[in-house]
Amino acid sequence: MALYIKAAEILEKAEMKQGALKTLVYDSKFSNIKQLFALVCETQKFSSILQEIIESTKLLKPTKLKMPLAKVLVYDLLIGQGLKCGGTWKAKMMKHRARLQAELARMKVRRKVSRNEDLLPASAKQNPGDQLPRYVRVNTLKTTVEDAVDYLKRDGFSYLGQAVKLDNFTLKNKQFVIDLHLPELLVFSPKTDFHDHFLYKAGHIILQDKASCLPAYLLNPPPGSHVIDACAAPGNKTSHLAAIMKNRGKLFAFDLDGKRLATMSTLLLRAGVTCHQLANQDFLKVDPDGSQYKDVEYILLDPSCSGSGMVCLRDNSAANQEEEKARLASLASFQLRCLNHGLRFPRLKRLVYSTCSIHSQENEEVIAACLQQNPNFRLVPLLPQWPERGLEPLPQCLRASTSKTLTHGFFVALLEKVSDTSNIKEKPADPVSDVENVLPAAKIPDAAAEEKPGSAVEENPESSDAEEMVTLPAEDTNGDAPSKKRRRKRKKKKKNLSKAE
Ligand code: SAM
Repeated sequence: MALYIKAAEILEKAEMKQGALKTLVYDSKFSNIKQLFALVCETQKFSSILQEIIESTKLLKPTKLKMPLAKVLVYDLLIGQGLKCGGTWKAKMMKHRARLQAELARMKVRRKVSRNEDLLPASAKQNPGDQLPRYVRVNTLKTTVEDAVDYLKRDGFSYLGQAVKLDNFTLKNKQFVIDLHLPELLVFSPKTDFHDHFLYKAGHIILQDKASCLPAYLLNPPPGSHVIDACAAPGNKTSHLAAIMKNRGKLFAFDLDGKRLATMSTLLLRAGVTCHQLANQDFLKVDPDGSQYKDVEYILLDPSCSGSGMVCLRDNSAANQEEEKARLASLASFQLRCLNHGLRFPRLKRLVYSTCSIHSQENEEVIAACLQQNPNFRLVPLLPQWPERGLEPLPQCLRASTSKTLTHGFFVALLEKVSDTSNIKEKPADPVSDVENVLPAAKIPDAAAEEKPGSAVEENPESSDAEEMVTLPAEDTNGDAPSKKRRRKRKKKKKNLSKAE
């Protein structure tokens, strides 16, 4: 119920113009900011529709609800994910559900529309987040891509193969493809809902935006390694790291927020993660020289940020600009402190830094300052075929956006210790450069058997585009000469690919 009370409070203030939505949500210190923001944003979008329904069903009197709380509850009951509360309020709302549903249906008939979204005024309809594909990461701790694809096919979805370009993400209802960059990511049409699906409930799939899968994928810690997830909750990236590590090694995960850690614990349990050690602790106070961290070679740092890349969190209202500037400056200073702290772990080889922010103050500027203060680290050039790069002068980094990558706004940088790069044998398998890390083409489930007229995806997933994923050779990405073994493997792989073509 706390979610609804907080959402109603913020909605009321925002509608009375007592502050920008984003600032009000962040200042609320609510444990799940994203969930709260999404609920308030969506309720506000449907506000006039909800008000009409509430007034014509005369809901306020019998329920003794105030308008803002009624709006939030009616939103989730009729349009959102369903009420997430129990107790007397749920009972009250359920008593009136049929009348509310009937009023919504009447409204659609009157306006000659069939979808809830079509009731919205044109200005409120344009939420780019609604157009983003639904990304589903296969949790390889519990299943394989092949098995997940088979299960979904048996469940009525139609598999179109591996995408070779972003255009292939124009999918109809139950169609899906494998992503062109991340081999364990399935892509569905926007709004495909898996919350009630067996694969989701059993932890076989994780609902995670494509951009947010990049940090763990790019850090790519080998099984058996020691890894830190510095600001870990609610833990999607932690579970991704564990999957890459095949649950072998040690995964230290820190977060300041106890409530978020509790949620994370449930999520990790469902995902079958066992190699983790959670700590409700300030990462900045973790001692890099502590004996338990002496073997830490990889760090994922995804610190608190403005969230400006999250489409549902975008707030274009004329917020107090001074307030916003101060907030960004304080976030950037925190992010830089976290980065500098991470680089102090004595055996660190690689650190991946990410934010879901579109502001250069939290991204390129933080990285540039960090590199200046830590000349023994350098940037690893990432996925050369990725369509959106870090702003100049840091094109080694990746950016993501609704328009160029069909994801939420995101930023990723991979830092590597310079002095360690001479030791090639110890170099981790590298998704930016190693052929053996790419899902072998033969393992990508073949959609050809399921011919679909007008399919957006080429039928043979073993096309030359599979090679595009191989990306730069090691020497191009980090200055290392590739080992003989790796050169041989690469040659062999190339031969196989040209055969497939
Ligand atoms: N990586 C997470 C994931 O993928 O699910 C999301 C992390 S979220 C962007 C940032 C997290 O940093 C929040 O959960 C916040 O509580 C945590 N945090 C903020 N300051 C921290 C600190 N000093 N030490 C550890 N965690 C911190």
